[in-house]
Amino acid sequence: MNRPALSIVIPCYNEEACLDALHARVSAAAHAAVGASHEIVLVNDGSRDGSWPVMQRIAAADPCVVAINLSRNHGHQLALTAGLDLCAGEQILILDADLQDPPELLSDMRATMVREGADVVYAVRRKRDGESLFKKLTAAIFYRVLDRVTDTPIPLDTGDFRLMSRRALDAFLSLPEQARFIRGMVAWVGFRQVPFLYDRAERHAGETKYPLAKMMRFAFDAMTGFSTAPLRLASHMGLVLTGASVLLMLYIAVGWAMGNAVQGWTSTMLVVVFLGAVQMFVLGMIGEYLGRLYVESKRRPLYLVADVAGPVQGRASLGY
Ligand code: UDP
Ligand code: MG
Repeated sequence: MNRPALSIVIPCYNEEACLDALHARVSAAAHAAVGASHEIVLVNDGSRDGSWPVMQRIAAADPCVVAINLSRNHGHQLALTAGLDLCAGEQILILDADLQDPPELLSDMRATMVREGADVVYAVRRKRDGESLFKKLTAAIFYRVLDRVTDTPIPLDTGDFRLMSRRALDAFLSLPEQARFIRGMVAWVGFRQVPFLYDRAERHAGETKYPLAKMMRFAFDAMTGFSTAPLRLASHMGLVLTGASVLLMLYIAVGWAMGNAVQGWTSTMLVVVFLGAVQMFVLGMIGEYLGRLYVESKRRPLYLVADVAGPVQGRASLGY
């Protein structure tokens, strides 16, 4: 296969207003870094705006652009997977479509990769401009909790913005799971991975495509994919509650021996309600893992491609 020196993979969902500026800046950065030996892989993740026609137009005008149209909205992580599957470059840069991750950092990231002899250069957010306090706060908590419960050290405050070598990408592509938390999976792959600090810019246009519900799904996938700590929490909680109930039994027995057997509706209700809540919580947690197993066991393709505009050089699988 005739590999380009660099692939830039960009998942896009309703990013019509960003695409032209995106293409201009990415293309300039790529030309500055590797000349024409690059491909820009735009993945349309079932956008409901005019993103696809814009992508087709861009692909028709620039031979370095490949645009892939997924059959529907598969979600950020799967759209990105599709792009990574289909790209062919020796180096791979992952970028968001909204220009929050400045493409101009490419040359510095490549320099870092060479200097450090790294396979992955991941961009760490020093600062996040124009994002709500809520988003910053939940993100900060999320990365720290995740760090505590996972066995794989996943870098803090790091998105998917990163430069990867072909061998790291191929290793990543060998992981088959359906519920994908890509930044964690790349961390799991290993090789030499080094951070690269940057200031995250504001969105170029439009608004975030990660509402609260998607953020929570994302967080659950991360937790269940990279940690069994919640399951352990269940057994720990069971242990503590067993200890507590032994004490309670002693208390009741002593009370009975002293003759005050019937009493305490309040305490009975408290115990019943509390145990009910704990059991529901634990069941729900086990359910999360069970659901994950169920989804994995179906072994469906991760994504489906409807159309392609431009030359696809990577795997010809197109997801099915
Ligand atoms: N995205 C996608 N599919 C989705 C949601 C988002 O491909 O279902 C893309 C989106 O177009 C963007 C990237 O994922 O390129 C990150 O989304 P966004 O910028 O909205 O997230 P935020 O930066 O607010 O966390
Ligand atoms: Mg964004």
